Amino acid sequence: MEEMNELFYREPYTREFDAEVIGCTHVQDHYEIILNDTAFYPEGGGQPCDTGTLDQINITDVQRRNGVIVHCADVPLPLGKKVHGVLDWQRRFEHMQEHSGEHLVSGLIFHKYGFDNVGFHMGETIQVDFSGSLSFEEMRQIEVRANEVIWQNEPIEISYPSPEELQVLSYRSKKELHGRVRIVTIPDGDVCACCGTHTASTGEIGLIRILSAEKHKNGTRVQMLAGRRALQYDQAIFDQDHEISVLLSSEMKKTGAAVKELMQKLSDQRYQIGALQKELMTYQLQDYEADQPLAMIYEKDMDRETMRAMAIALVEKKNCRVAAVLCGSEDAYGYVLVSHTVDLKKYSRLLNESLHGAGGGTSDILQGNFRTVKEDISDLLKQLFANLEP
Ligand SMILES: [Zn+2]
Repeated sequence: MEEMNELFYREPYTREFDAEVIGCTHVQDHYEIILNDTAFYPEGGGQPCDTGTLDQINITDVQRRNGVIVHCADVPLPLGKKVHGVLDWQRRFEHMQEHSGEHLVSGLIFHKYGFDNVGFHMGETIQVDFSGSLSFEEMRQIEVRANEVIWQNEPIEISYPSPEELQVLSYRSKKELHGRVRIVTIPDGDVCACCGTHTASTGEIGLIRILSAEKHKNGTRVQMLAGRRALQYDQAIFDQDHEISVLLSSEMKKTGAAVKELMQKLSDQRYQIGALQKELMTYQLQDYEADQPLAMIYEKDMDRETMRAMAIALVEKKNCRVAAVLCGSEDAYGYVLVSHTVDLKKYSRLLNESLHGAGGGTSDILQGNFRTVKEDISDLLKQLFANLEP
């Protein structure tokens, strides 16, 4: 088979075909089948391979090895067998939309900014690295222009110019090519040497959506989508926006402002809760017996700031020697210990080691977390502080 003359090049829209098995080798855990001709595109030039079946046998990978295309399968096929090949056409057509879309965007960037496409990968998204810096706003303009070229629905031309014609032709991706050079031309968009499969016209690309443009090395890494996957992405984003608009009773496209408002409300409420907790604390402390050597208070839900305020109030207003405020449940408690007369720092290590905790502080205040049950915490605190000599 002459390179660049396989069925997927001659007739790129072939979904099913007949061929003959001319080779089949057992390689590690699979078989590599060679056909006399094939519509399966092998991975290459940034484009993933085709998948599908040969006589109902799944073809999971297709590679070009030393110029020969091998079809990877779990089972062998006998030499000389006439087989019927069927491509996963949706997958292949998506790759065509993506590859043509990538050329179009790369060509427009090259013409407008002179930047080269220096790396290209088609996976979850189409990822393209450009040699210069591009902002998202600049990519937005490229996105609009690329979609305009799609609407013009011009034919995408494949040609094999002679060496003389190539000499005077201005095209991208001159490197890496030997032998026959295959040129893909998008009118008003791009001229580029390429070995991939493309849609027959720009209209079939369908839609181009730029997702991001981020600084990468000395240039820009662009994530984009084309065709069906761009539509699927837009549908997913639409669904998200719709869900948020229903939840917040806001209009779609105004959900950002609605979320901002919600966050402001939350922050206001958090502030109010803090103020209420402090107020509640003064009530709780009213009934608390004064002048105790150790005051221990357990709470289910209290922020650190309030815990600290409560411990300080127990020491300063209720004249307790050591105040411990704990917040949590089962075997996890946050703690704040305060004292103005006992050097707490000396106890920090012992407390954390005995109660599987972490934390620290000063001689006046310790804070952190214990990972043990309430009883163990209470027992140790009593043992250490309840009977201290004044
Ligand atoms: Zn290409």
